[in-house]
Order: sequence, then structure tokens, then C-alpha cells
Amino acid sequence: MTDAESFYLILALFYLVECLKLLPPGTKAIANPIGRGKFWTPRSELVRFMGIGKWLFLAPLVPWPGIMIVTSNRKPNTNESALRFARRFSVLRKRTHVLRVLSFSIFTFFFLVLPYLYFLQRGTAAFLISISIGYFMMFTAAFLQFRIRRKILPNEKSGWITHTLYTALLPWHAMRCTDQLFFDYTRHWSWPAVLAAHADSPSARKHLLRLWRNSRWGKKPRYSIEVLKPILEEAGVDANSSINFNHSCGTAKQCPCCLASYQPNYDHCPDCGDIELLNHHQ
Ligand SMILES: [Zn+2]
Repeated sequence: MTDAESFYLILALFYLVECLKLLPPGTKAIANPIGRGKFWTPRSELVRFMGIGKWLFLAPLVPWPGIMIVTSNRKPNTNESALRFARRFSVLRKRTHVLRVLSFSIFTFFFLVLPYLYFLQRGTAAFLISISIGYFMMFTAAFLQFRIRRKILPNEKSGWITHTLYTALLPWHAMRCTDQLFFDYTRHWSWPAVLAAHADSPSARKHLLRLWRNSRWGKKPRYSIEVLKPILEEAGVDANSSINFNHSCGTAKQCPCCLASYQPNYDHCPDCGDIELLNHHQ
């Protein structure tokens, strides 16, 4: 294996590790592969590492235009607002647009342009100039990242320096420099408000309605009806429309939360745990 091949193998490995996110237990994630439109989909964790108290998620593999944001599993306050979240998120996207495109340019430069230049100009001074262009892009990304972070996360000063240094010095981190920025900004939002802010996406809407059904029929629901109702109303989601029992299943029972059908000998839904199955006439 040549030096260049070893370099790219290491770069690719570090990049993949950078796409894997170790986040606190209970973290909820939602991702959009093209960054806009109705493609927001809740993303489950890959593994739960109970020993170290972390859950592992995989972010979109290309830094732009895909976006993943995360929230904690905290209970929403009564004044949670999906619209407020949607507005603030829209401002964040505008602020980070140039940085996200730049991180994608760094990704393209290191994985496509630089190998091509190396092939053309093996060992020449021009190749070293190409490397310095890559680092110039990384320094620019570090500066932009610092400015945005200082503005939107004024109280998290330790992150200002750490992430700026990582972005300036590590190519794989510079390619993913907006990931942590998004996570740090959105992690305090409540999961139902984030889902409701993206309720025009079928998958997010489906997930939100399932939370509502769980609060309606679950014995120990995570979120109360009182908290979810205003969030759903604000997002224009009609919760009653989700109670859509399938009457064609004869005598079978149905879970009111996940809407799966079961044989009459089942009493509780094995997927939803504590939820009692209903007969169709209920
Ligand atoms: Zn169920």
C-alpha cells in the first residue's frame, strides 16, 4: 500500500467515525437526507451502549445537504411551541448555509479533487499548494463555525475553542463541523415540538400521532394529553384522525397505539408494553 493509499484509508475511517454519534441515553433524532421538504424521518439509535451510558446514531453520510438534529427525552413544558422551534430552526439553517456548503466542499476536495491532483502531479510543489488550499478552506470553516457558535450558543464558551481547533486542524471534523453545532442548539428542545415543527413530513406526523395515542391509551405515558394537545393544534394536526381502527379484521383485536392487529387471545400489545388491546367495536 502506498503512502497516499494509507492516508486515504485513514481519512475514510476517521470520517466514518465522525459520522457515528455517541449521544446521551434517551436522545431522539430526526434526519432529512436532502435537508428540506417533507423528508424528515425520525432516526432510531443503532446500538445502546448501556455500559458507558451512550446511544449510537448514524448521521447522513454526506455532509450537505442532509441534516440530522437531536433532542433530549425531557418532558415538554406547557408552553412548548412547535412554531417557535420552526422559526428558530429556520434562522439556524440560514446562518449555517454557507458553512454547510463549505463543509461539503472540503469533503469533495479531500475525497475527489486531491486524489485526482495527486495522480496528475505526484510529488510536485503544485500538489503541496493543493494541500494548502484544503487547509485554507478548513481555516475559513473554523472561523465561520466560531462566529456562529459564539452567536447562537453564547453560554457554552468551552465549545467555542474546542470545535474551532478541531475544525481548523482535522479534515474529517471540518467536513462534519455543523453536526455538533446543530446538536448543541437543538438538544434542549422537546421531542413532540420538534416532530410537530416537521408535521408536514408524513413520517414525523405518524410518529407524533403515535405519541398522542400513547398518551391517550398508555397507562404511564411519557407525555400527557394536556401537553401534547396544544402542540398538535399549533401544528394543525388532527389527533382524532389517527384513530383509524381496521374493521375488516373480524374478531381480531387492535392496539390503539401502534394500530397493529392481534388474535383475540392477546390482551396487551407486545410492542407497546402496557397498552391494552381493544376489540374493534370499541
Ligand atoms: Zn402497539
